[in-house]
Parts: sequence; structure tokens; C-alpha cells
Amino acid sequence: MDMLVRGTLLFRRMARNGYGSVLTCVLAAYVVCGGPTSSNWPTFLVASVVWAFLLARRLAKKLRLTGEAPFLLDVELGALLAVGLDAALLRVEGNLSGRFSPAMYVLVALVASFARPAAGLVVVLWVVGLDAAIRAASLDETNLEVLATHAGFAFAFALLNLLLLRAEVARIRVTAKSRVEEELSRLRDDARSYRLLGGGEGSTEGDEERLTRSSVEEIHQSVHYALELLRRCLGLHTAVLLWRNDAGTHLRISELSTASDDVSDAPFAVGDGVLAAVVSNQAPVILSKLKPAHKVPYYAGPCPVRTIAALPVLEDGVVRGVLALDRVDDRPFTPHEQELAAQAARYCQRAIQNERVFVQLERAKVEQGKLYRAAQSLGASFSERDVLDAGVRAAREIASFDLAAVTIFDEAKKTHEVCAAESEGGKIDALVGQRFKHNTGLVSMVVENRFPLPYRGDFDPAHQIVLTKRMPWPALPSLLVLPLLVHDRPLGTLILGAKRRHAFGDAVRPTLEVLASHLAVSLSNARVVHQLETMATTDGLTGLLNKRAMLDAAEQRVAAAARFKRKLSVLVTDIDHFKKVNDTYGHDVGDQVIRGLGAVLTRQKRNTDVVARFGGEEFVVLCEQTDEDGALLLAERIREELERTKFQSANGSLSVTCSVGVATFPGGGTTWEELFKAADEALYASKRGGRNRVTAWQPQSVSRVRVG
Ligand code: GH3
Ligand code: MG
Ligand code: MG
Repeated sequence: MDMLVRGTLLFRRMARNGYGSVLTCVLAAYVVCGGPTSSNWPTFLVASVVWAFLLARRLAKKLRLTGEAPFLLDVELGALLAVGLDAALLRVEGNLSGRFSPAMYVLVALVASFARPAAGLVVVLWVVGLDAAIRAASLDETNLEVLATHAGFAFAFALLNLLLLRAEVARIRVTAKSRVEEELSRLRDDARSYRLLGGGEGSTEGDEERLTRSSVEEIHQSVHYALELLRRCLGLHTAVLLWRNDAGTHLRISELSTASDDVSDAPFAVGDGVLAAVVSNQAPVILSKLKPAHKVPYYAGPCPVRTIAALPVLEDGVVRGVLALDRVDDRPFTPHEQELAAQAARYCQRAIQNERVFVQLERAKVEQGKLYRAAQSLGASFSERDVLDAGVRAAREIASFDLAAVTIFDEAKKTHEVCAAESEGGKIDALVGQRFKHNTGLVSMVVENRFPLPYRGDFDPAHQIVLTKRMPWPALPSLLVLPLLVHDRPLGTLILGAKRRHAFGDAVRPTLEVLASHLAVSLSNARVVHQLETMATTDGLTGLLNKRAMLDAAEQRVAAAARFKRKLSVLVTDIDHFKKVNDTYGHDVGDQVIRGLGAVLTRQKRNTDVVARFGGEEFVVLCEQTDEDGALLLAERIREELERTKFQSANGSLSVTCSVGVATFPGGGTTWEELFKAADEALYASKRGGRNRVTAWQPQSVSRVRVG
């Protein structure tokens, strides 16, 4: 039966996927058998409709696809087109050797261009096969030579088209890529020469790249506007701002306004041509009556101008660029025009300086935004785990890393523990929880010296140890270990590693250091919160839960017992004649006895039971899913163990006994108050009955006493 169902499903799947191929083969058989040449119109019409329907379905499917089409779809489309074309040729010309027969080569070329190569090959084979079959079927055309020529042409067309198309695509790709790279490198050069880049690493990624790009464009726009104005007002041939490269060795056109089409964008040496004196003397150069033989280096050919005024653009007393204005006529530059040019030079310099300040402010704003978000998420985390997660998340926003870890230093034991470790792929559980001794590794040194390491942020695995020799750190080129300091006290370290070189340079270091100190403060706060929580819920003398925490737990467990209709028992214990112990042996021994009963209770209880000190020498045990008999057994074990326990004091050893009261939900009460009251009444009955005994609460009179 199972086989039958599977077989049916398989058949359905095959039918759904394969009906196109089957119909294509049927149509091919119809063409081979001479269908189109016969004058049977109805059959031809039906075949044409089927063919058109199939072609439309396959084309629609191909157009819907965003990625590469599946192999079978390409083959089916090619095969269908070939069948259609053969049918048309046979119908119109009666054979495959007529005037229109080369149309098949066009089809082959088309399929080879748009289908994947393997599918193209199958289609060409199909075309050749179909051709042979048709010729063989119409017995008059069995010339092998014709067939071979035809096949050879089909293959040649397909191959040529494939190669040409691929070569063209590759060429366009390479040109586009090199153009983009050229643009980018020009942008970086400009940004570097205008000193817009931060941190000195030249890493212009993401936001940073957008910021520098918009600043470079802004500079070009302002300068272009000034040059255009100058050129039109002063009747110039060219007004150009030349800027020195980062090293200061070359000048290159930064922006220009010109009527010439002979301007050269290539950089030239600062000592080149008539502009040399501007840079070397830091003074304007005004020249007239220039001849074609003179060299004005921003023109590619012979000097087309007669007059030139070139002024230095100064920044902090250094020539950073040259503003050159020239004319094709002999009109000299008047003092007023020279003053205007000097002002324009200052304007250009200020435009660049303004952008520099703007970029710095923007950068600072971005960094502050990151730190603000980090502070917010750190401030909203109260547990150590949440703080660590928020810290690592914030670090990722500031500097992209491939590996991050946080270690915590135990000052008393002189050990480090890895508390968080995360890579691109998620948390690294193998590292978390690993401890190692204080050593000479980078983490220990950072804790010791309270200073980030390595100095330059580069990792040298051959000479540096990060955690310990036993726990090798991946050999990533960039590394930064930051101390987590609170009031100069090291809590631990934040370790970042990156595959990218110089990932933790000056551009991100200060921000990461601020983050590390935020992280440290939040970690220390989380610890204080944890301590406060512990203090608020535990009893200082015994380490057990206190009354408040027990009341919380009790409310929940009674509610759960009511909901799931389960038993729940409460035990209340009280040491007999405890005042006497205090009076005879002193308060310290009294405390020791209280701790002793706490220990007995902890040993005897099950994992799911809750024990709390309710005050003085009175304890409460809450046992889930425990009926009265079970609770009485536990109470009896507690009573016996305490009776057996010997406590040591300066006045010799002593032992004490206790009385226990037991009440069970729901008989003893349906709320915590009722249950506790019942257990307390039972305890009172134990006391009244002579102490050192266990009593279960009973509705009328408290009964079922076990006497020790
Ligand atoms: P009973 O058998 O009726 O319980 O007699 P008792 O003397 O034990 O009376 P009770 O339970 O009322 O005794 C409580 C005493 O426990 C009073 C107080 O001096 C003492 N006590 C309360 N808290 C502490 C504590 O933290 N340490 C010490 N050493 N004694 C405490
Ligand atoms: Mg008491
Ligand atoms: Mg007592």
C-alpha cells in the first residue's frame, strides 16, 4: 500500500516536472514524421497551439526567475524553439535546405548566448539530431556531407557566440571595476591630501567613506564656484586650484574652470615649470608675455597662455596648494585683481579647513552616538551576563572584530577566568569558563599595568601569549587587550581580535577605551546588585533563605499546589530550651547550634524542598509533592540527626533537641497563612507534649505525636 502511494506521488511529481519535455519530444516526432509538410490542417493547428502554449509557459517561467534558470528549463526552451523553427521551415519551404534554413544558426547563436553552456551544448546536439532525423525520414535527403556541414556550422555559431559574448562581458566587467577603483583611489588621495581622514589608518569604510566622499565633493563644489566666478569676472582662460599630494612632492589639479581643452589631470613635480618658484619661495609669481615654449605644467601641450598669476595657498605657514589664473592675451593682472586672487586663495584654503573641522565634528558625533548607545544598553543590564553581552555588542559597533572575549580577574586567588567569548559565528563555549593563573601573557600584563596592549594593536603569535600557552589565541593580525578598570582597580580585560590588519588603530582606540571603562563600571554595578539581591534574600548566620524570600517562594508553591492539585507540606522546627543554651554556653555557642540545625536541615531536605530561617532558632521547610506521611518521616529524620549531633564549647560538648510541627496542603490549610498557622499549632503541641517530638496538625485536636 505504502509502495502504491509512493509510486503515485512519484508519478505525479514526474508528470508535473516532465510534461514539458514529453510534449516537446511528441512535437519533435510530429515534425520528423513530416506533419508540417502534409496538408492536414487540423493536426498542424493542434500542434501549433500546443507548441505556443508550452513556449509561453517556459518563457514566463524564465522571465519570473531572478537568478540563473535551471538547466532543464533552458534545454526545453531551446529544444522547443528548434522544433518550431524546423516545423515552420518544413511548412513554408517543404525541406530544410531552402533560403531560410540558415535561420537555425541564428537560433543556435541565441541559445548559446542566453542559456548556460551545458544547456547550450545539449540544444545544439538536439538541433543536429533533429536535422538528421528529418532528413533521414524524408528519404530524398540523406546526403551525409550536407548534414555534417550543417552540424559543423551549428557548433561553430554556438561556440563563437559563446566565446565572444563571454569575452565582452568580462571586458566590460574589468573596465567598470577599474573605473570604480580609479574613482575610489582618487577620492582617497583627495581626502588624504586635504587631511580629512581620521586615525591615520586610511580605512575609509562604510559611514567613514560616505563622510569623506561628501566632504571631498563639498570642497570641490565650493572651490569650483569660486574659480568659475573668478574666471568670468577677470576674463581668464583658466582658473585652477592645484593641490599637493600627501608627501608634498607633487601637485595635481584639485578643481578648475577653463576654456581650454588641453588641460592635463596628471600630477607633476612641485619644481616643474613656471610654478616652481611659488612653492619654493612661498610667494606669488606673476608672469606675462609667455611663449609656447614656456612650461605651464597643468597644460598637456605647448603653453597656450600669455599671462599667468600663481599664488601659494598656505596652511600653518606651509604651501599646501597653488591657485593659478591665466589669460591668453597680454593684459596684466592689476593690483586689485591680484588682491582678489589672494582672497580667492584664502577662500579655497578655508573651504578645505571648514570641511576638515566638519568631518572631525561628524566623526566625533558618530563616536559619541555609539558610546551613548553603549552606555544605554550597559545601563539597562543588571546581571553580569547581560552586561557582558551588551559590552561585546557595543564593541562590535565601534570596531568590527572577528573574535572578542572578556576575562575577569580574581585578586585573591590571582587567577583569570574567561567569562565571555564570541566570534563572527556566535559564542565560543569552549573558551568560556576557562581559568588560568596570573602569568606573563598579555591579559595578565594588562591587568598588572592597567594599560592597553599590544602597543600598536598588532599581534605577533610567535612572541606573544594572550591568555596562556595552554590556551592559544587564534593568529589574527590585529589584537587589542583593554583593561576593565573601576577606580584604577582592574576587574579584568576586554580582548578583541581581527583578521583585518591595523583594525584597532588610533581611529577607534580612544572610543574602545571609554567603552571598556563603561563596561567595567557596569560589571561592578551588576556585582553590587547581585550582592544586594543575595543579602536581601539570605540569612547571614546560616546562608539559608530568610523569612521574606521564603514568603515569596511559599506563595508561589501553594498556588502551584492548588492549580495542579498536588500535596505540599510545611515543617516548622524550634530548638528546645534554647534560652538555656545561650545562658549556659554563651551566645556564640548558641549561634553555632543554630548553624548546626541549618546544616542538618540542608542535609536532610530534597533538592526541591525550600529551607528558611524564620527568626531566632526557628526554621521552616517547605516540601513540594509531599504528603503528611512523607513530611513526618523527614521531620523525624531531622529531629533524630539533631539529637545525635554533638556541639563543642569551652565548657565541654553539648547536644540539643528540637520540636517539629507539620501541616499538609490542603487538609492543613489552603493558603500559606493557614498552613503556617497549622504547622505552628502542631509545633506548639509538640512543645506542650514534652518537646523533642514531631506532631502533625489534625482538624480537631493536634494528634499523631512521635516522641523521641
Ligand atoms: P522552647 O523550648 O519553648 O522553645 O524554649 P526556648 O528557650 O527555646 O524559647 P524560645 O524558642 O522562645 O527561645 C528563643 C531564644 O532564642 C530567645 C533568644 O535569646 C534566642 N535567640 C534568638 N535569636 C538568636 C540568635 O540569633 N542567636 C542566639 N545565640 N540566640 C538567639
Ligand atoms: Mg523559638
Ligand atoms: Mg525554642
